[in-house]
Amino acid sequence: MRLILLGCPGAGKGTQAKLITAHFHIPAISTGDIFRTAIQQGSELGRQVKAIVESGHLVPDDLVIKLVAERISQADCEQGFLLDGFPRTTAQAEALQTLSPIDYVIDIDVPEDEIVKRLSGRRVHPASGRTYHLIYQPPRHPEQDDITGEALIQRPDDSEATIRKRLSVYHEQTHPLRHYYQQLQKQKDAPRYLHIDGTGSVDVITQTIMSHLHH
Ligand code: AMP
Repeated sequence: MRLILLGCPGAGKGTQAKLITAHFHIPAISTGDIFRTAIQQGSELGRQVKAIVESGHLVPDDLVIKLVAERISQADCEQGFLLDGFPRTTAQAEALQTLSPIDYVIDIDVPEDEIVKRLSGRRVHPASGRTYHLIYQPPRHPEQDDITGEALIQRPDDSEATIRKRLSVYHEQTHPLRHYYQQLQKQKDAPRYLHIDGTGSVDVITQTIMSHLHH
């Protein structure tokens, strides 16, 4: 099962990625998480991308494509994988077509005013990637992870100004992928494109997605 999750920042891709991949026993590959980990570790990659990621711009295509090509060639991806946050540009989508067949493109759609509310309240436990929301899904103790008790943080790119930047980048560069994959539907062996309403409860959205995936 090879899956792509599309959808704007805050659409719930990360949340759905965890649930879907647990069901299929495949790895969830989040390019954003890979970059955040590299930045925290201060690695060469982290130094290269820190300023770009924290400003809400996109990391250059050639760098992301190379990273994903290496990642999906690893042994744990043999039975499938889920890509969360890749592809984000037409160039990335075209490169992916040459790298691996994809079964489904899951496009999670949430209106923009809802997105700003979601992202500005988002809190993260950096070590595990667990996410919370101050209003919709608060931790048991304020600003603490439910499982470890460690402090939660706000992603540096979840400030309101950067959220707006990320949304404009999404509209310019990533939204056109919807059309790209819809056009591909005419071809035999193209990934199946699923348009999913991303408002409503996490469980209902997961069930809707699952009901469309056949394997
Ligand atoms: P995300 O966690 O998916 O919202 O990604 C966080 C940030 O990482 C983005 O705002 C970009 O700066 C960078 N990033 C993640 N995935 C990609 C990608 N496929 N192409 C370019 N930049 C990316």
